[in-house]
Amino acid sequence: MRLRHKPWAEEFIASHPDIVVPNPEEQKGKWNEVFNNDNPLHIEVGTGKGQFITGMALANPEINYIGIELFDSVIVKAVEKVQAAGQPANLRLLKVNGADLEEFFGKTDVDCVYLNFSDPWPKTRHAKRRLTHEGFLKIYENILPDHGEIHFKTDNRGLFEYSLVSMSQYGMKLEYVSLDLHVEMPEDNIMTEYEEKFSAKGQPIYRVEAQFQL
Ligand code: SAM
Repeated sequence: MRLRHKPWAEEFIASHPDIVVPNPEEQKGKWNEVFNNDNPLHIEVGTGKGQFITGMALANPEINYIGIELFDSVIVKAVEKVQAAGQPANLRLLKVNGADLEEFFGKTDVDCVYLNFSDPWPKTRHAKRRLTHEGFLKIYENILPDHGEIHFKTDNRGLFEYSLVSMSQYGMKLEYVSLDLHVEMPEDNIMTEYEEKFSAKGQPIYRVEAQFQL
């Protein structure tokens, strides 16, 4: 998702430190100070315009959430979404690359990783950029506790097949695999922007929860 370049986006982000955490490397190992509690922390990598992470934060006030997004112009939209939702106290955003998560989170800082409608990078030579490539799985494993989980949804069948293989070759236990999530829509399913868009076109939504093994 690339929005038109907005020169003012960087300034806008810097002017909302209460939503987009500045210098997140300084919080490594002490995210409880940001939220003023010791509640579990769930993150979404590639949060886009923030609909999912905001919905999750509103639905689960006893869990802390961080939405992680690479692009300034996109995270601006997520900030606006957070503001429109009344700026939940259990929600923050980070404008960083998911490839650098270990700079910001120590082992066990994070309790669950969500990946929603991640960019598919269909060319084989770009496989390392897929957020379910083994290089990324290693990063998630390093910031999650033992048996930590990744919850992944996508409309992209090729990426889903690749991800099931990648996760299982990594030794993860695959659970709650669905080839059409909306047939038996779980009560607690919070739709992302992309999920709304693709399901409205009648496309099936694939979902898996995968757990790291020792
Ligand atoms: N999760 C949202 C949804 O389901 O509606 C957005 C999906 S969009 C296809 C993927 C998003 O992931 C884009 O906003 C993109 O900028 C972001 N993204 C891709 N690679 C990333 C990375 N390495 N780190 C952080 N964000 C990334």
